[in-house]
Amino acid sequence: MKSSYTADIGLEVHAELQTQSKMFCACPVVDLTEAAPNTAVCPVCAGMPGTLPVVNARAVDYALRVALALECDIAETSQFARKNYFYPDLPKGYQISQYELPLAERGILPVRTDQGWLDIRIRRVHLEEDTGKLTHVQERNGETYSLIDLNRAGIPLLEIVSEPDMHTIEQVRAYTHGLRSLLRYLNVNSGDLEKGVIRFEANVSVRPKGCEKLGTRVEIKNLNSFRTMTAAITYELERQTALLESGGTVAQETLGWDETEEVTLSQRSKEEAHDYRYFPEPDLPPLVISKEQIESARAQVPERPDRRYRRFVTDFGLDAYQAELLTKEKAVADYFEALLTEMDQPDPQIAANWILGELFGVMHTHEDMMHKVKISPTDLAVLLTFVQQERINSATAKSILATMYETGSKPQDIIRDKGLEKISDREKLKGIVRDVLAAHPQEVKAYREGKSTLYQWFFGQVMRATNGRADPALVGEFLKEEL
Ligand code: ADP
Ligand code: MG
Ligand code: ZN
Repeated sequence: MKSSYTADIGLEVHAELQTQSKMFCACPVVDLTEAAPNTAVCPVCAGMPGTLPVVNARAVDYALRVALALECDIAETSQFARKNYFYPDLPKGYQISQYELPLAERGILPVRTDQGWLDIRIRRVHLEEDTGKLTHVQERNGETYSLIDLNRAGIPLLEIVSEPDMHTIEQVRAYTHGLRSLLRYLNVNSGDLEKGVIRFEANVSVRPKGCEKLGTRVEIKNLNSFRTMTAAITYELERQTALLESGGTVAQETLGWDETEEVTLSQRSKEEAHDYRYFPEPDLPPLVISKEQIESARAQVPERPDRRYRRFVTDFGLDAYQAELLTKEKAVADYFEALLTEMDQPDPQIAANWILGELFGVMHTHEDMMHKVKISPTDLAVLLTFVQQERINSATAKSILATMYETGSKPQDIIRDKGLEKISDREKLKGIVRDVLAAHPQEVKAYREGKSTLYQWFFGQVMRATNGRADPALVGEFLKEEL
């Protein structure tokens, strides 16, 4: 984008709340990529006349956790409304959402960028229900039709609307990744974008640099991955600046993203609130939030990832890279802190290096795997104590870690059973060095006649004879002595 323009980007993030049951009925919330279509549907979420919605208290609790983590003001009373529109994915002909009185407003999420920390203001957080999922099919013979899966209809959906505080793609990335990480910390959403549990809509405008007034925005709907979101926003920024450069104006409209052509396409001129004929949902009373509800939700809000990141840097002296990787997932951050607590001589660098290097090395993925790892922080701490006390060398420790990962055995047992403890007994080691030299008289002769490169070879032979357990410093000392 030309540097004489400023971009303003505001995001609407839709996150499913992964409760047991749906927002207004008892149907289970199922994995849409696994469950057979239309198997988790009842008269309520299918929109049958005469049915009545009942608010899912757990969904409200989850929404409160998110709103509190985002430091929002919680509305004592909020209101569900009917958002009327006709589309086949909406069996009732309206979506129950919150409009004039959302659950929460005015929050903040600090995100880390290459330029430092940036506060993204949250405009509102509100509850609604998800719609059904349409799949458009085009047959080879040109016939087209659409399939509907109502398993998704009625799943609790949280809409998190930011202020237009992002000005670069990097900031958009930082915000969306930060939000995803937060939702996972709060245990309300798996963060599996490829399963559609988080979806984005981007509002994008540009203005000449220095101009105070925000430009006309377009809204890009249905961005379902980080990749499409950044591609669509990048495209739109280029399109709008080119348009302004050539003297044109941006039309306020709703756009879609064409995956194959990689362009935004106009879907309709921007719909206005009155198009939806919002009115208070007559089948639901106002949503009243008690102090007790707020406190019990607050008790479920852990330290936010950005705060944990800062604490890891200041308290433990970790660098940005380490802190980022260690705090992105709550399970990893918890593991790191538990490991430090368990270590005899707590050392944040050693703990960080062993988790990020060795433990992550033996794991297959870093995300969900942490809680499945059979190596407890206590066991890893025992292993690291052996290393710190120089009772095993680090190559041995790495292979022990791999065994621990596979079998779940304790390090002290593996070390004892396999006799892996480092040989630092001077007399014993001196004997081994002598044996090795005695077994290779020709090499010793060659060495003494000047072939000094043989030193490394002798060293290797001693290590081999001890399965790598010999104390390298002592081996060096004795080799020099004996040779
Ligand atoms: P609407 O229903 O009209 O889309 P929302 O409240 O859902 O309104 O979303 C408004 C979004 O658009 C917010 O994320 C806001 O930050 C963003 N936005 C508003 N004005 C602009 C603008 N000029 N440029 C970019 N984004 C904007
Ligand atoms: Mg919008
Ligand atoms: Zn149902």
